[in-house]
Amino acid sequence: MEKYFSERSLLFNAWSEFSCPDDCERIGCKHPDLHISVTIIDLFSISLVTGQRVCDLFEKYIKIGFDPIDEKEPFFGRISLELKKPCHFLEGKNCSIYPGRPIACALFPESCFLSKNIEIFRRKEIFKNFPCIQVPCNISQKRKETLYKLLEMWDKEIFLSDFYLFGVSPFWLDLKNLSELVLKDLIPLEDGRVKIVNQCIEGILFQRFFESGYWSDWKVKLERLDKKDGLSYLGNLKSATDHMIIYTNKTKVRIAHQFDGIKIRQIHLP
Ligand code: SF4
Ligand code: SF4
Repeated sequence: MEKYFSERSLLFNAWSEFSCPDDCERIGCKHPDLHISVTIIDLFSISLVTGQRVCDLFEKYIKIGFDPIDEKEPFFGRISLELKKPCHFLEGKNCSIYPGRPIACALFPESCFLSKNIEIFRRKEIFKNFPCIQVPCNISQKRKETLYKLLEMWDKEIFLSDFYLFGVSPFWLDLKNLSELVLKDLIPLEDGRVKIVNQCIEGILFQRFFESGYWSDWKVKLERLDKKDGLSYLGNLKSATDHMIIYTNKTKVRIAHQFDGIKIRQIHLP
């Protein structure tokens, strides 16, 4: 795994021509609506850079995030660990864990430009003030290949992380039966529409996952990584799950989960 972490870190900037303009106030690291998904590999990597235990990083800087599958389906989304915002690791305008930052941070913004339709990103409300999205940088062929390699590594890391913590990957959650709670807190927009407050969803999720004991179960699993043999334990997990990964098609989700009280139950989708 040491070799994996150092290769991963080298790929983060290999052939990249991107650098953040000085006048950007690091909005990507601060904006609560830009979700930064992290995996147990990211947590281990941050632990190697900071010397902090994985389970302490989890307690202090991580939240349970909910990413809707589609803008039109706000109550159906993927559960993952996410960095709390503003990110604790931002020091002034610098990332204090740069070589070991989450893979999601290393991919942003360049991976957005791999899409054929860059305009989709530029028009998104959240990215209107992001200089890196409004004025795309050049991406050489070698950088493109590197980004695809990083994306492939990320897929495997997500699978491992979800599988280890949640027992399923991806962990789809259907919140329609809690929609009344979510709809209590809406933000009116200038154009007359309303917006769901993501922090409200995250609050509901945290309360339920905490009270039902899932949160402490995840913490126990993360504590296992802090043991002396944590790195080799992680390496063994990774070798096993790298061979199990199933690439999912978002349009063909068949199994999801729903809260039944504070517990989770599986549901089958038509
Ligand atoms: S990645 Fe984009 S939003 Fe983040 S600091 Fe750089 S320019 Fe700003
Ligand atoms: S880990 Fe670094 S790059 Fe990522 S959000 Fe935090 S400060 Fe920004």
